[in-house]
Amino acid sequence: STMTTPSSDTFQINRSDAPATVAEREAALAAPQFGVVFTDHMARVSWTHAAGWTDRRVEKYGPLMLDPATAVLHYGQEIFEGLKAYRYPDGSVWSFRPEANAARFARSARRLALPELSAADFLGAITALVDVDRDWVPSGEETSLYLRPFMYASEPFLGVRASLEAEFLVIASPVGPYFAGGVKPVSIWVSREYHRAGAGGTGAAKCGGNYAASLLPQQEAYAKGFEQVCFLDDRTGTQLEELGGMNVVVVNADGSVVTPPVSGTILEGVTRSSILTLLTEAGHEVSERPVLLEDLRAGLADGSVTEVFACGTAAVMTPIGRLASDDFDLVVGDGAAGPVTTRIRAQLTDIQYGRASDPHGWMHRL
Ligand code: PMP
Repeated sequence: STMTTPSSDTFQINRSDAPATVAEREAALAAPQFGVVFTDHMARVSWTHAAGWTDRRVEKYGPLMLDPATAVLHYGQEIFEGLKAYRYPDGSVWSFRPEANAARFARSARRLALPELSAADFLGAITALVDVDRDWVPSGEETSLYLRPFMYASEPFLGVRASLEAEFLVIASPVGPYFAGGVKPVSIWVSREYHRAGAGGTGAAKCGGNYAASLLPQQEAYAKGFEQVCFLDDRTGTQLEELGGMNVVVVNADGSVVTPPVSGTILEGVTRSSILTLLTEAGHEVSERPVLLEDLRAGLADGSVTEVFACGTAAVMTPIGRLASDDFDLVVGDGAAGPVTTRIRAQLTDIQYGRASDPHGWMHRL
């Protein structure tokens, strides 16, 4: 069906009758914890196969009422996104490459047989929500308002087929600095037992099921004393893919940089692509090609690999300080954040927080 392309002003604003008081909001913003406290409102658009997307609105944040037969509860037909709104020194509020999240959301929708939401509606919902809840965007160093757009199959029907009804929502949660007290390297367990995705599967989509499948490997790694899991490809078990929620990048002693290609089994990170651009501009030779675990181990052992980092919206860039599995345990560099990771991270966060110019036009005013 063809849809009009509405802007944010087509979102009807129904203000909450019980917003947080200024004191409550300020208490929440003083020490925000990721994903615990939410703003006063949520944006919402409803879809039916018959009528398409309708009823664009911003309404009071609150529980959803679901029929126990709602399709998402049974077959996991659900997708989501994650991006941030940053407060600039002048008080204005901006998001980072939201069109990229809108495009990825549309790709995820297609893979999960959910209806595509236009970029105009995706951006319109974010803009309308942030406008109503603008006071919830924190201003402390490395703080932001995390935006969580998501869509689920809302038809109450137990047949296994694509839902004829769907709901799209955006909720928002103020977040503090990911690394309180300086960027800290993480330890990684390379999983040989579990895979995150398989060829032809949903690895490139941001769907809830991918994250459900990563929880047990994550728990087991944690029990072994590691913070995160790195998954290998399912076909050969020899190539690095990504972490449960971050892409992975390798920096060599000669300055060249290698990251696994977007081959259908990893999520195409917005942070990843932005960092590759900055690295290329800084004169690094950047290759998107398979990263063999064997080569990485050899490179870490002989010093030809100097830095490994993970990247994603939440932590921007996280140095990997230790990489281990059943048969090896290696320290990366001297176990601290390396110079390339540190430099590019500062460059990217300076753009995101409006401390530097934005030559690529990545920032979008909300
Ligand atoms: N891979 C996975 C599996 C993720 O969940 C994320 C977070 N969205 C990323 C990579 C990084 O993507 P982005 O830089 O767009 O946040």
